[in-house]
Amino acid sequence: SSVMEKILQRKSIRMRNLQRTWQDSPEGVKMLNFRNSLPAYKEKDGLLSAIARNQSFATYHLRPHQVIVISGETGCGKTTQLPQYVLESEIESGRGAFCNIICTQPRRISAMAVAERVSAERGENLGETVGYKVRLEGMKGKNTHLLFCTSGILLRRLLGDRTLNGVTHVFVDEIHERGMNEDFLLIVLKDLLPRRRDLRLILMSATLNAELFSNYFGGAPTIHIPGFTYPVRAQFLEDILEKTGYKLTSFNQIDDYGQEKLWKTQRQLMPRKRKNQITALVEDALQNSSFEGYSSRARDSLASWTPDCIGFNLIEAVLCHICRKERPGAVLVFMTGWDDISCLRDQLRAHPLLGDPNRVLVLTCHGSMATSEQKLIFENPPPNIRKIVLATNMAEASITINDIVFVVDCGKAKETTYDALNNTPCLLPSWISKASARQRRGRAGRVQPGECYHLYPRCVYDAFAEYQLPELLRTPLNSLCLQIKSLQVGSIGEFLSAALQPPEPLTVQNAVEFLKMIGALDEQENLTNLGRYLSVLPVDPKLGKMLIMGAVFQCLDPVLTVVSGLSVRDPFLLPQDKKDFVSPVQLAGTAKSRFSAKDYSDHMALVRAYEGWKDAEREGSAYEYCWRNFLSAQTLQAIHSLRKQFSFILKDSGLLDADSSINNSLSHNQPLVRAIICSGLFPGIASVVHREKSLSFKTMDDGQVLLYANSVNAKYQTIPYPWLVFSEKVKVNTVFIRDSTGVSDSVLILFGGTLIRGEMAGHLKVLDGYIDFFMDPSLTECYWNLKAELDNLVQR
Ligand code: ADP
Ligand code: MG
Repeated sequence: SSVMEKILQRKSIRMRNLQRTWQDSPEGVKMLNFRNSLPAYKEKDGLLSAIARNQSFATYHLRPHQVIVISGETGCGKTTQLPQYVLESEIESGRGAFCNIICTQPRRISAMAVAERVSAERGENLGETVGYKVRLEGMKGKNTHLLFCTSGILLRRLLGDRTLNGVTHVFVDEIHERGMNEDFLLIVLKDLLPRRRDLRLILMSATLNAELFSNYFGGAPTIHIPGFTYPVRAQFLEDILEKTGYKLTSFNQIDDYGQEKLWKTQRQLMPRKRKNQITALVEDALQNSSFEGYSSRARDSLASWTPDCIGFNLIEAVLCHICRKERPGAVLVFMTGWDDISCLRDQLRAHPLLGDPNRVLVLTCHGSMATSEQKLIFENPPPNIRKIVLATNMAEASITINDIVFVVDCGKAKETTYDALNNTPCLLPSWISKASARQRRGRAGRVQPGECYHLYPRCVYDAFAEYQLPELLRTPLNSLCLQIKSLQVGSIGEFLSAALQPPEPLTVQNAVEFLKMIGALDEQENLTNLGRYLSVLPVDPKLGKMLIMGAVFQCLDPVLTVVSGLSVRDPFLLPQDKKDFVSPVQLAGTAKSRFSAKDYSDHMALVRAYEGWKDAEREGSAYEYCWRNFLSAQTLQAIHSLRKQFSFILKDSGLLDADSSINNSLSHNQPLVRAIICSGLFPGIASVVHREKSLSFKTMDDGQVLLYANSVNAKYQTIPYPWLVFSEKVKVNTVFIRDSTGVSDSVLILFGGTLIRGEMAGHLKVLDGYIDFFMDPSLTECYWNLKAELDNLVQR
């Protein structure tokens, strides 16, 4: 209406005045000077006119594109500048209050960091004109017109509001990473554009392969931002060994990783075939003397090189070398994950040079770090102190640390791969692509010529894939398919065939089968009530189901612990002290089984360990408790905070009343909690086959599986349950199952999928038939509770 129009016009004028005041202030001028020095500034007019030209009706026919693809090296100013240019020009033209710009990021931390930075560049507080929104957190107000959010958040918004009402510009950032959410988002947006002719879509990428995206959008115009970086010298393992005098030995694996690591590498060995290929490559290179010119020491050392022995000691040696011999400048170390980062940090703390806070400042950079630490990363360290940042591949493109001069690249990143034939996800550190290695190297040349230490031989680099496989092609699609269903866009297969690179039909089929199995879809692939609830929970459907069941059955407390534990990692550690002569696996296994109370459940052991920790914490003896029981305090802490997040999610999605406290009256009913674990983990079940003096385990598809050595169930020769439900099946050389819980036939029948399959109410009759199986009277009581609660849910 015209009243609204008038209000917005007045607001726009206010916005313009504020912006001009800031831009005229001394700090504002200083900031503008910095911003104008970024390479993106040169493309400002080009970008704005490309967008404006599209908007102007008169020339619309000249450029019928709503989509623009922009590429430019990391750090050239895409993320912080381009959305801001649009915002500023809208404000300057007196249309500030009419625009609504969204910019997506693949990771929550970059959404938060960038929003904070852009607010600072505008001389504002976060949450004014510029805000952010990530899962469970956000800072935005009624004056927010530029919102940085994760791609997941925008997808969720699209579920509720198919036309993105009121949004004028969408920037999708880091599309070169080809994350699943981004690929998904592009399908949905591509479908939306014809219905929203006024919407502008700007895709931003750090690499040059813009054509792929341009073609996807029918030849969208592309703009490249030429950037300037200093040259970076690449050094490979052979050079590093030469330089540092470090010697790789066959015992390296043990020395480097400590015994805990040894055990870990056993778990996470890369597929043998690939490993042999790469070892063979190195041997080949040695024989064909590609390493001519290197000392015999380096050659000998390299001969014993295996892909797994890039260890902490080597990294330590490289860091020492840099600190002692190289010019000043910060160091960025790329590692595979938080576990490795924290282990290495602990090791460095004990080092005479690297652990000296007067000489070296070691910082970490990963997805879940605290905001305070995050700020330190960008700051210059005090003079004469060398900054070392240990980071995951997050620091590859979405975060720019300016003063990096040295990069140490371990050559790997944790990547989920998916084996559609065995329907098994694998999360393994795997070799990065050439594009990633280049990107990592580039981080060193922002302020002066840099050095990059690649901790692998050049011949291995030569064997890297050119680009990484898009995530859509290497992960199970359970969660994605559920979301597609709730978008109501028809057949999942058809929808996904519109992707940039569509996934295999078999993968889609597996996901649909899975969703049917857990009762989220009915036989006709329609969303069930359970499915509808699961689709609003921003968690894996399995975990979501366990949470819903836990809430309905009034035993949420232990279930929250299990779900959080499954999403973080196992808090049970293996001892680091090498002097122990008892096998560490045995020792830690004993520690863990202390919590198992002979009930054949890793999940219940986790619940007890967590509860014991809470008690110990109250008494101020948490440290000792962890030490004594081989528990990681850090992991327990992470589980603790995730528990809070999950209960928040349940409240946020309306599944629990926001103000009433959680009903936990049945939390101490062990058989019930086990049943709920079963309901969430189904169809992850294996039958227990007793043979003479040994046990074997078979999954539903008749595959033979083994238990991980640290499972409480691994030490038994008989298990008095016919089934084990398990959280995870991982393919290493053979297929292993991680944590497991023994369950009975009746629990499996009642809670294994069939219960809520189809419409809930209808199946309660099935329950009636089976209720006699229960020996435990409290379960009967539960059943009546369930019936009432479910009826309630169905009606809501
Ligand atoms: P791109 O998205 O192209 O990788 P960004 O827009 O993130 O680049 O960053 C552009 C420049 O802004 C960086 O090179 C850096 O100089 C500066 N910058 C970005 N974030 C921060 C920050 N949090 N603190 C200080 N400077 C920053
Ligand atoms: Mg960026």
